[in-house]
Amino acid sequence: MPEGSLSLGNFRQDERSNVVENRRRFLSALDAADWTLVTARQIHSADVRAISDIRDAQADPAECDALTAHTPRIMLGVQTADCVPALVADPRTGAFAAVHAGWRGTLAGILARTVESMQLEWDSRPEDLLVALGPAAAGCCLEVGPEVVAAFGKRYEYTDELLSRRQASGKANLDLHRANARQALDSGVSVEHIYSSDLCTICRDDLFFSYRRERGAERPVGRLMGVIGRDSQSRNSQSRNSL
Ligand SMILES: [Zn+2]
Repeated sequence: MPEGSLSLGNFRQDERSNVVENRRRFLSALDAADWTLVTARQIHSADVRAISDIRDAQADPAECDALTAHTPRIMLGVQTADCVPALVADPRTGAFAAVHAGWRGTLAGILARTVESMQLEWDSRPEDLLVALGPAAAGCCLEVGPEVVAAFGKRYEYTDELLSRRQASGKANLDLHRANARQALDSGVSVEHIYSSDLCTICRDDLFFSYRRERGAERPVGRLMGVIGRDSQSRNSQSRNSL
C-alpha cells in the first residue's frame, strides 16, 4: 500500500486492524461515525444482494457484487482498484445501490441486474434512477484479450462501440464506463441521469490505486471505496409509511 494512503479494503493483504481503523476514520470524516457500513465479498459475479435492515447490514459480508438497501444510515460500499464502481440512487423511493463492475461483472450484466433488483425489492422505476460511474481503468488503458472481446461480442450487439486500439492478435482496449452507461440506458435509466467519470485509475497514479499498474509490485495494492447511503426517510417513503 502506498505510504501515507488510506486503504479501505483488501483484508487479505492489509493488516485487518489497519483497515478497520481506516474505515472508522473514513466514516468519521463523512460525519457518519454511527452509520453501518456494508461491503460485499466481491467475486466478479452478477449477484445482487438486498440488505433488508440494520440487523441484516451487520451480518458477515456475503459473496456478491452489488448491494441494494433502503434503510437510512446504512452505507453501502464498493471496493475497486480498476473495476468500475457504480452508485445508484432513487430519489423517489429512497433506495440506493453500490455495484462492482469489472469486465466479468459488466459482461454478466451486473448493473442491469441491480436495476431489476431495485424494481423488485424497492419498487424503483428505472427512469427515476441516478447512476454514477466512478474512476476505473478506462478505455485508454484497459487492454483485454481476444477471449474477452469475443465474449462481449456474443452478448452485446454494440460491442464494437466499446472497443478501440484493436490489435492483430485480437487484443483490444475495452471501455467499461461506456459499457455500463449503455447497460443502464438499456435498463431504462434516462441518459441525463447517467454520470460517468472520465478518470482512469491506471493513468492517474497520483490519485488512485490500480491493480494493473501495481501488479507485480512488492507492496500490496490498496483499494478505493465508493459509498452511498442516506441520512433520513425520503419524502416518498414517509408518505408511504403514513398511508
Ligand atoms: Zn488510462
